[in-house]
Amino acid sequence: MTAPICELFSSLQGEGILVGVRQLFLRFAGCNLRCDYCDTQRAWERPEFARVERTPGARDWEQAPPEMTPEQAAARAQHLLRLAPAVHHSIALTGGEPLLHADFLRELLPLLGEMGLRCYLETNGTLADELAGVIAHLDFIAADVKLPSATMQPPLWGAHERFLVTMAGHEDANRTDFVKIVYVHRTSEEEVERAARLIAGINPNLPLVLQPATMNRIDFPEPLPSQGLQFQAAALRHLGDVRVIPQMHKLGGWL
Ligand code: SF4
Repeated sequence: MTAPICELFSSLQGEGILVGVRQLFLRFAGCNLRCDYCDTQRAWERPEFARVERTPGARDWEQAPPEMTPEQAAARAQHLLRLAPAVHHSIALTGGEPLLHADFLRELLPLLGEMGLRCYLETNGTLADELAGVIAHLDFIAADVKLPSATMQPPLWGAHERFLVTMAGHEDANRTDFVKIVYVHRTSEEEVERAARLIAGINPNLPLVLQPATMNRIDFPEPLPSQGLQFQAAALRHLGDVRVIPQMHKLGGWL
């Protein structure tokens, strides 16, 4: 069994409640969504080659065949881990959408666990059945709730609800979960509040991170700073832990 891999490297987590920790990043190719604000469009399709760091954090890329077996992906992660054994907090499984490769993850995650790596899943929060098959191996889940104003796609409320119900149904004191919502300049308070109500109806203790989209497009204004305050206040009517955190890897020039 193989999965298409875009890249494997070592950097700092730039989003969410673990911002700033050092991680390995394994980026899968393929996504079931097409968000308007997507900053990883290169991961939508299978790449010609995977770029893999030779040395953790050095950006000394090697080109590798993109289709890897779980054993090959784990061996490459182990190589980076051995060169910097004490610094890595966990490995981020990201994309694209990693849960499109749930069968692959079911084999890979135990191998990463045997290496002492904690597994952090970054997901768009729409593939509940696929999550159920791998959730026992996860230490962290960063799940998106997508706003139609941000994706410019049809609403995904039902898919997100099923996903959050699956997370709640597999509660594990050793796992840390949070939800992330990306907002844009055209996002309304009502939309954020609807999302917060959805999350609170399933698990009011889930931390929520509101993330202003980082737009590098001339046709697309940045969200206003005042929106962060307004949306946080709206979400706090339903949830106890709501933070506004921009993409720190973009501000800090991290990968
Ligand atoms: S889910 Fe993520 S990778 Fe897929 S289109 Fe949306 S932002 Fe991009």
